[in-house]
Amino acid sequence: MGRDIARKRKTCKDRYDWYKEHGICPSCGRKWSEPGRVYCKDCAAKIDAYKKAQRTERIEKKRQRRSERIAAGLCTECGARPATPGMRMCPRCRAMRNDSTRKYKIIKRIEKAADAARRAGEQK
Ligand SMILES: [Zn+2]
Ligand SMILES: [Zn+2]
Repeated sequence: MGRDIARKRKTCKDRYDWYKEHGICPSCGRKWSEPGRVYCKDCAAKIDAYKKAQRTERIEKKRQRRSERIAAGLCTECGARPATPGMRMCPRCRAMRNDSTRKYKIIKRIEKAADAARRAGEQK
């Protein structure tokens, strides 16, 4: 069964490549692709609209969950522990957030120093 799926996927990929090579839209297989693009104008617009809708939905869901957590007095990060009064996150998540920000800054500083050292070495 697993092999069947793999074969099917390969055929799909082959078909896609074939259409792409011949300048035909692989999505509908009926129209010419737009110059410099894989899909035809209609399909590209449909795919764009679909992606946009999905992104909007995802953002919307995230926002909704966040406001629900705020309303419930829960941490917006984990949603499991109560948030510190006056804050949006629980102490644990806040500490973690701070920690990762700090780590990121430290890594950046080390990279910068290494870069400067390398450049100084090159100049010699
Ligand atoms: Zn098309
Ligand atoms: Zn939390």
